[in-house]
Amino acid sequence: MDISGPAVRKYLKKFIVGPEKKIRLKNFETGWVQHESFRNKPEEVVDDLLKEVLEKDQKELFAAQELLAASHKYGILIVLQGMDTAGKDGTIRHVMSGVNPQGCDVHSFKVPDVEDHLHDFLWRYERALPERGMIGIFNRSYYEDVLVVHVHPERMEELPETIGPDAEGFWDDRYKDINAFEKHLVRNGTIVLKFFLHISKDEQKLRLLDRLDHKEKYWKFSVSDIAEREYWNDYLVAYEEMLAATSTKYAPWFIVPADHKWMARTIVAEAITSAIEGLNLSYPKYSDEQIRHLMDAKETLEKE
Ligand code: AMP
Ligand code: MG
Repeated sequence: MDISGPAVRKYLKKFIVGPEKKIRLKNFETGWVQHESFRNKPEEVVDDLLKEVLEKDQKELFAAQELLAASHKYGILIVLQGMDTAGKDGTIRHVMSGVNPQGCDVHSFKVPDVEDHLHDFLWRYERALPERGMIGIFNRSYYEDVLVVHVHPERMEELPETIGPDAEGFWDDRYKDINAFEKHLVRNGTIVLKFFLHISKDEQKLRLLDRLDHKEKYWKFSVSDIAEREYWNDYLVAYEEMLAATSTKYAPWFIVPADHKWMARTIVAEAITSAIEGLNLSYPKYSDEQIRHLMDAKETLEKE
């Protein structure tokens, strides 16, 4: 499916990374809000307006997901990436809060364990893919295997020297593997939607400080967040290279302006909904004979 086609609401198209474009993330606004009229309003007012929009979006997503489950043809894979504090967890919580929990799977990928590292880098993700009829969310994903380990090659699994990260074309080959993997998924009925929640470094500082200013948010803070922040620019470079290499027509990246949490949540909700709506699904059709059986069953029940 070509997600950049008319199925996607017009304003969302501006966030889609075109194939093979060179990406400079500093040219992508992090603080974008949907309406001009929101721009000079206080944050709380904008938040309230966007919460209303999101409520409507959640209802639409609920209906879209029901149809996805009923028609049982496609699965939806949602990949969420972003720097620490970009809002991945909050986006999942708020976007999916209206969806039937039975129709939705969330997988949060942490540092790979020993078993993961004994397999190829896609192994642990393949095992978590959504079934037909389901929405599967990857909170971090195989993209970490070209991001965090690109910035810190020492955290990578051990590979033979001749094919490891020092081998020529190693990262390009990983991008190719990812593109081939996603192509395979799409060819087999899994729609792949990828969101990079794009925040500014200043916004990250505010969010980290907020976690340290509230006791009930301490658990969200990790000392390693401060260490990783030192690598901000290295991560940007890794992201830029990855986004350019892996945004395809069949599995596009959305660069989502995420300094306004509610804006990011709205964009993600609407992108998922319009992708499902674009599939033009319908409830299963029943033949005259099948309907006769159903009506017989109805009659039996009514006669009880
Ligand atoms: P969090 O999302 O805050 O729970 O943190 C998860 C941590 O796991 C992050 O520091 C990621 O960099 C790390 N992580 C996730 N996937 C990988 C991977 N494939 N290789 C190395 N580290 C990873
Ligand atoms: Mg964290």
